Parts: sequence; structure tokens; C-alpha cells
Amino acid sequence: MKNIWEEREKVLENEFIHRRERELIEKMKSTDRQRLVREICRDHCPKCGEMIQAITFRGVPLDKCPHCGGIWLGPNDLKILAAKDHRSWFEKWFKAENESDNVA
Ligand SMILES: [Zn+2]
Repeated sequence: MKNIWEEREKVLENEFIHRRERELIEKMKSTDRQRLVREICRDHCPKCGEMIQAITFRGVPLDKCPHCGGIWLGPNDLKILAAKDHRSWFEKWFKAENESDNVA
């Protein structure tokens, strides 16, 4: 009778170890995949995959794709450009975008 319980305990222990190892392997795979995607996508246009070029527009550093013409801005770049183009269509558009963001 004792052997049955010992065997059962061993089986549960093995299941626990197996599950834990599986979780660790999946986590490692996920981390490797994320790192690989970051390495492949770094300095590439998210729209067409071409290498992007660093440019400066009105003193603001931007990334431009020479292939599709896409412009990529950092988190504060749009605010800086809007402030520089005070009372222009750009500022109105930026305010409208922010207001619609707040509503949603
Ligand atoms: Zn592009």
C-alpha cells in the first residue's frame, strides 16, 4: 500500500517538474523571438521593411523611409513640431487628434 502512495507522489512530482520545465522553455522561446523581431526590425520601416534614414526637420530628429516616404516620430517629436508651427494647420490637427484621443 505504501508503494502505491510513494509512486503516486513521484508521478505528481515528475508532472510538476515537467510542467515547470515546459513553462521555462516557452518563456525562453518567447524572449528569443522578441529579441529576434527587435533585431530584424531595428532601423527598418514598419510599413515596407526598407532601411530608414535619420533626418532632421526643423531641428527635430525624425526617421524617414526613402522607399515609401513614411515619417516616424518619437513620443515628443509631434508635440515639438506642433509647438514650432504655432497657429498653423499642424497645431489644429494635433489638438483635434489629442481631443479625439481623450474622448475614446
Ligand atoms: Zn517604408
